[in-house]
This record gives sequence, C-alpha cells and structure tokens, in this order.
Amino acid sequence: MGSITSAEMRTFDNHGAARTTSRNRARDFEHEPAIDPGICWQAIYSRDPRFDGRFFMGTTTTGIYCRNICPVPFAKPKNIVLFACAAAAESAGFRPCKRCQAQAAPGTPAWLGTSAVVNRAFRLILEGALNEGNVTELAERMGIGPRHLRRLFVQHLGAPPLKIAITRRIHLARNLIEESGLRMTQIAFCSGFKSIRDFNHAIRVSTGQTPSELRRVAGAPQSSARSSGLELRLPYRRPFDWSSLIAFLRRRAIPGIEFVTDCSYQRTIEMGGVPGFLTVKPDATGPRLVVNLETKGAKGLEQAVERIRRIFDLGADPVQIASHLSRDPRLRHLLKQRPGIRVPGVWDGFEAAVLAVLGQSLTSAGSKQSVARLVQMFGISVDSPIHGLKYLFPRPEVLARADLPEAGIDNVRAKILRDLASSTVRRQLTFSTYPTLEQTVCQVGTACGIDESTANYIAMRAFGEPDAFPSREPALRRSLAGLDKTVSPQHASDLADQWRPWRAYAAMLLCNESGRRMSPNDNRATRSLTSFRAVDRSPFGVGPDTHHL
Ligand SMILES: [Zn+2]
Repeated sequence: MGSITSAEMRTFDNHGAARTTSRNRARDFEHEPAIDPGICWQAIYSRDPRFDGRFFMGTTTTGIYCRNICPVPFAKPKNIVLFACAAAAESAGFRPCKRCQAQAAPGTPAWLGTSAVVNRAFRLILEGALNEGNVTELAERMGIGPRHLRRLFVQHLGAPPLKIAITRRIHLARNLIEESGLRMTQIAFCSGFKSIRDFNHAIRVSTGQTPSELRRVAGAPQSSARSSGLELRLPYRRPFDWSSLIAFLRRRAIPGIEFVTDCSYQRTIEMGGVPGFLTVKPDATGPRLVVNLETKGAKGLEQAVERIRRIFDLGADPVQIASHLSRDPRLRHLLKQRPGIRVPGVWDGFEAAVLAVLGQSLTSAGSKQSVARLVQMFGISVDSPIHGLKYLFPRPEVLARADLPEAGIDNVRAKILRDLASSTVRRQLTFSTYPTLEQTVCQVGTACGIDESTANYIAMRAFGEPDAFPSREPALRRSLAGLDKTVSPQHASDLADQWRPWRAYAAMLLCNESGRRMSPNDNRATRSLTSFRAVDRSPFGVGPDTHHL
C-alpha cells in the first residue's frame, strides 16, 4: 500500500476551509459544501444508501477502500480515512473492496458542488476530454492554468484530473470485464486505454488481479456467448423518480427514432460511426438501470455510457438537491410528493436543439408531425430489430443545406435551423461543457438566434446544466402563479434566484406539478398541457411561447 499524502488525509479539513472562504470567493466557492464529516460518520454507521458514492472510506490496516454501504464490518474509526472520491483513495494506494465494489457506486462525489470549475472540468473528463486532449488543454477550456486546475482538484476531490480520468477508465473496463462478453482487447480500447499494456497494468495495480482473473471470479459470459448485444448496469442514487422521467421522455419521443413505454426507453443511436440501438430499463434487483446496446463493435462506448447517464441524469444527487430546494415552501411539498426528481437529458445535443427550435412540445400532434416529416425526409434509414425505429436523426451537414420549408417548416424556423446546423458543422457550437452557464446560453443563443429561455432549455437538456432556467415556459409560470394565471418571465426569474445552483430541477418540479394540477390524472394532464395557449411571443419569432416542458 502506498503512503497517504497529507493532502488526502486532510480532505475534510480542506473541505471545511472551503466553507470558511466561500463568502469571499465569488464564483469558485459559491456553493455550500454538501455534507460534512459528522454526516459521513453517521452515514457509515447507518450504511445509509443515500450517501453511497458521495465519499469512500479507506482502511489503513488492510489497504482496502469501501463504499459506506459495504456489508463487511468496518474497522475502528482511528484506522479509517475518508476520501472524497474513488480516485483519491486509489491515488493513496488503496484498492477497491471486492464485496462492495467501488466501480459500482453511483453518481459523483459530494464535493463537486463546492467548486464550479472542478464541477465543469469533471464533466468534461467524463465526456472523454482527457482521452483526446491533455490537462493543459482542459485547463485552457476552463480559462485557468493547469497548475491551478490540478490544485483545485486535489483540494476538492483529493486527486488530480488525470487520476480521475484513469480511475474512471478502470471502473468502466472492470464493469465490462465482469458483465460483458467483449474480448479484452475491445474492452481496453473502448474504455479509453491507449494500449493493451496500459490496460493490463492499470487493472492489476487497481485490483491486484489480471483482467482474466477478474472475469473468471465474476463468472462473466465468454466472448462467444454474446455476439452483438452488450449489457451494462448503470447505478443511480436513491430516490429516483423513474415514472416522472419516463413520462417526460415518452411525451417527447421522436417518431421513428425513439420508442418509450412506462417501463423502457428505446432508440436508434450512432456509436463510433456505426448505427445501433439501445434499450434502457430499471433493474428490479437494485438501484441501477439495465442498458442493452445492439451495435457492431464497442467503439465509442465510453461516450455512449456518458450520454445514457446524461439522459437519465444518473449523476444527480437527489438528497443534496432536495435539501437545498426544500428551503422554499413552494417546492417543499412537491419534493415530498415526488422524491428523486431528475432533469431528463438527451442522446444528442444537436438533436435536442433542433427539436427545441421547432417549438418541441412533441406533446402536440402538429409538432410531432412536423418532426416526423423532418426525420423521414432528412434522417438516415436504418434496419431495426425494434418495431417502428427506422431512422437516425438528420445530421447537421444535411440540415444546413436542406430545403426545410419543403418539410412544412416556416421560413423563420427554417433560417434558425440552418444557422444552428451550420454553426455545428463549423464547430462554432459544440454540445460539450462550456466554462459557465452564461457562456453556454450565450453560445447557443448567438449560434442560432433564439431567445434566452429556449437557450436555457437547450442548456438544461442538451448540456445537462443543473442551473439552467427556461423562464418563459408557460407550464412553469402557471405553476408558480396558481391555476389559470401566470407570472411574468422576469418574476419567475426573480423567484428562481433562491434555487440556484439547482434551478433546472426546480423547473422540472414545477412543470410536473403544473401538469398534475391541470388534471388529477397524469395521462390526461399531458393533453391539458398541450391545449394551453400561451399569450406571449418570443422576441426572436420562435414563439408562441414554446412548450418545452
Ligand atoms: Zn467494502
């Protein structure tokens, strides 16, 4: 076991220090830390699953680190060191416990919430930023120097950016070794390793076993057992409001591309340049989603996993979000009624932006038809084993030159869509994390000339921005004002200030509530929402007020 550095030993002290300085530093420490050591110890003694993955505990006498839900009896407190994330424990030379398996822990560490820079850089790492680029480039994208970035990571997470990326790679590889029938070489490359040697070495250092030994112990299927399909289990943190989330996705399912029922989500995808299909269902045996990927090969798998995590918002920490939002009595009872709120994401950012510009509200028949026409005319046909799924979404290079009025799209929206597609082709707009929410909204707004509220909606769904707030949404404003009345977008924005940094979750709560209030029956609520007529028009001509939510 390697020695534990003082920085890692002091994880909690640093955390406390971040709290003391939070009043003075405007951007970087503006959010209150989520939990403190006292709460961690309570979570350890109670094995409280809500804290699973928010921190890890290393036992100095064994060199093993565990999740707080581990069934193995814990060591004496004096022999336990607390870590903000698995990478910090592995940096300190600890190995994951074979019983509780760190790689199966849900979500993100609690400490991310304390630093906007760390939070966003962490997301970029999950999107694969350190597979294609290096730490200096990552820091540049955040607008700071690489040393400063490294220092912030060590301070908040107890591990530098590269270690976070490597640990994530190892955990994904281990997941695939133990649960899939993929060949080891495929696993090495699709989980982000540059060579088989790196892969073998990293797995051996992290787990003390070779990849083949790990597979034998887990009893994973042999490579011949599964030729095309790949099954993965992605954990989440309880509570998880699956029914609200799937209802949201179901109402907005894109004809020919998505097929959603109460208990499953299916769609066509492109992974590593190859068409395929994915099915996601809740796992009846635990807090996980079961993902089935039908593709040829596993190229692009790492990014695909991140996209699926984004669609179902698996990185969210509902306890932390609820404890912040429930300070407002307007939201408190909603959080009690439907615990585990998530902000549904999307498979592809460009696709989400196109739908948002079309005034998405795929809940309305007219809107669904125009999207269906767009997909039929400009999408790519695929052979599908799943009934009704026969297209990939149109590519930006196609839409940039497409005769959109031919598909029944009015001239104003056609121009916006062409601008959006051209900006995406020229990479003036990338659907990846920007340094701040304001920059994201500004980038989306200027790329396609849409109003701020729609840009916020795109930021919320396509970029996973937890603080985005589409203030013009009629459902949201109606929910704030009470039935049959609305508040102005400005008033909604003012009220929402107290919900930062989780305004997107508050928006989802209010819109779900609005739907329920329009009708006591959730299904009928869908219809009521679509029949609501907005009175305002967007200044950019995208209106009438778009019904995205
Ligand atoms: Zn354990």
